Amino acid sequence: MRHQGTDSKRATAFARARHAARNGVASDPPAGKPHPAVCMRCHATHRQGRWRWDPPPPALVPVLCPACRCIRDGLAAHVIELSGALPPSWNEVRGIVGNVARAETQQHPMERVMQIEVQGDKVLVPTTGTHMARRIVAALVRRWRHGVRLVFADAETRVEWLEPREVRR
Ligand SMILES: [Zn+2]
Repeated sequence: MRHQGTDSKRATAFARARHAARNGVASDPPAGKPHPAVCMRCHATHRQGRWRWDPPPPALVPVLCPACRCIRDGLAAHVIELSGALPPSWNEVRGIVGNVARAETQQHPMERVMQIEVQGDKVLVPTTGTHMARRIVAALVRRWRHGVRLVFADAETRVEWLEPREVRR
């Protein structure tokens, strides 16, 4: 069964993702703020040209960091779409996505997983950076290898879990 509303919402999300990717939303430094700054939402600090998790020194300029802006505006840099024979593996998938997300965000403050959305028989995992998306897809492929089919596009990667009879070993 197809729901028109769901499809157009999904198309909008992808259009936004493409727009965001083209305009480099996730990697932009805070506009017009070359000075050290601290994000008022996640408390990441921007110093010497990069974002860090260091404790902020006092009196930094409060800004909204690019990752928090992506999250606030719902503008993903990349969307991973999970589909197919996913349900039996979903708990494991969710665990892997969570582990990769935590490790990546720790190392690269601007790389985040945004709100995961279930839309019908698909799960959308939007990210604030393409690096995060690549790491998640790589982790899924390491685990399922021939059990998934991948489709790469500009600002989205589709990962489809194959039915057991489709899997060639
Ligand atoms: Zn932030």
